[in-house]
Formats: sequence, C-alpha cells, structure tokens
Amino acid sequence: MKTLLHTTLLLLTSVSLFADTAVKAGPRKGRLLELSPTQSAEFFVEKDRSISIAFYDAAMKAQAPAAQIVTATAEAPTGKTKLDFATKGNLLIATAPLPAGEDYQVVVQVKPDATSKPKNFRIKLLLYTCKECGNAEYACICDH
Ligand SMILES: [Zn+2]
Repeated sequence: MKTLLHTTLLLLTSVSLFADTAVKAGPRKGRLLELSPTQSAEFFVEKDRSISIAFYDAAMKAQAPAAQIVTATAEAPTGKTKLDFATKGNLLIATAPLPAGEDYQVVVQVKPDATSKPKNFRIKLLLYTCKECGNAEYACICDH
C-alpha cells in the first residue's frame, strides 16, 4: 500500500512538472495562459498584428470577458510599448497593433479580477508557422 501511494505521488509530481513547462495551445491555435485551475486565457496574434485574448473555463468552454484586466508590454528593439485591451464580443483585443518586427518578448499581465494578484506571462514573439504542429511558433507545442 505504501508503495502504491508513493508511486501515485511520483506520478502526480511528474504530471504537474510537465504542465508547468510545456506550452499548451488553445482552440484558436494561440498560446494558452493558465490563470488558475479553473480559468485560462489564450494569447493570439491576429493578421493585423493586434493581440486578442480569449478566456476559457476548466472544460475549455469559451467565456465572455468579465472582470479580467489585461495589459501587454511589447519589448521591441525600438522600445517598450504598452498595449491596452478593449472588449469585442467574447474577446479582448489590443487597441493598437504590436510594434514592427518579431523575435522580441511580449509580457502579458492578466489580473483575473480586481482583487486577485496579477499574473505575468513572457512570450517570445515568433510569428512563423511551425511545420510540425501548424501553430504559430509563439504557440508551438512541439518539444524543441
Ligand atoms: Zn510546433
């Protein structure tokens, strides 16, 4: 019995370790950002280079934006640009496009609601499509 318990714990540990490091993609093929065990956000770059954010519950069912506060900072070589978001249907859309170029860091800060601590996500902006998984490289789920 003790051995069984030990094995289970080991399994649980490795599963959570994996979840912390692996990139997950959302239904729109964007980068999934885990906000809590019951809520996630999806970072996606639209064709016009504006960031859109979608929210999902634990069952990956799309949720309308509620009290979440999202800001993003694009750390472009030309300087840092802060981006604000506005609600559009079920999405939050950045009010300005990302600065030109790529291969720079985008820091997305999500406050799940007014009283929660903000969570920061650092995403390397690589827009080309990964041949293996078909996602944009910033949301690539391959192990490379
Ligand atoms: Zn990939």
